Amino acid sequence: MVYFQLKITANLAGLDNLQPRGGLDDPDHPYFIKLQCENCGEITPSFSCVMLSEEVLLPRVYGRGTVNLVQKCKLCDRVGTVKMISGFGKPLKHTSGESGGYVRIMVFECHGFAPVEFSFGAVWKAQSRERLWEMDLSKGEFNDFDERVHVTDLKAKFERMKTFWRYHDRYLYLRSVDGW
Ligand SMILES: [Zn+2]
Repeated sequence: MVYFQLKITANLAGLDNLQPRGGLDDPDHPYFIKLQCENCGEITPSFSCVMLSEEVLLPRVYGRGTVNLVQKCKLCDRVGTVKMISGFGKPLKHTSGESGGYVRIMVFECHGFAPVEFSFGAVWKAQSRERLWEMDLSKGEFNDFDERVHVTDLKAKFERMKTFWRYHDRYLYLRSVDGW
């Protein structure tokens, strides 16, 4: 298994704490990811949707338990899995986005595939001084010119993590990776 962290950044004007509408670990928040087959290198043409509440049984050859996605590579037929690991994300603060800083919002445990692209989709929220904003980020930005709140320069990236955490306390290990 290989672990990947999904990190995002954005320029938040008049807004703070950007995150999925139901919170970072909302069981029904859809994460849209593009996967690359680690066997043949093929990148799936369309985005796969994974969410914490949608679980499927792990194929027996990989052991027991559940994952959030089982997918077969269309080119080489290799089967891969993706499991979401909740509890390690943080909302994007106004200040981190301002300095170009990324925050981790989700961790994915992958077998056979590597996530290579993320699409934000429609259901996000952020806080202004006055109120909560729900927003569609599928176009890569959000603007309300009357109230002067903006989300621009939205970016996401996946980073491969080290994999020996199986032998360590998961929480402490993840803290040590990028220092929070
Ligand atoms: Zn393949």
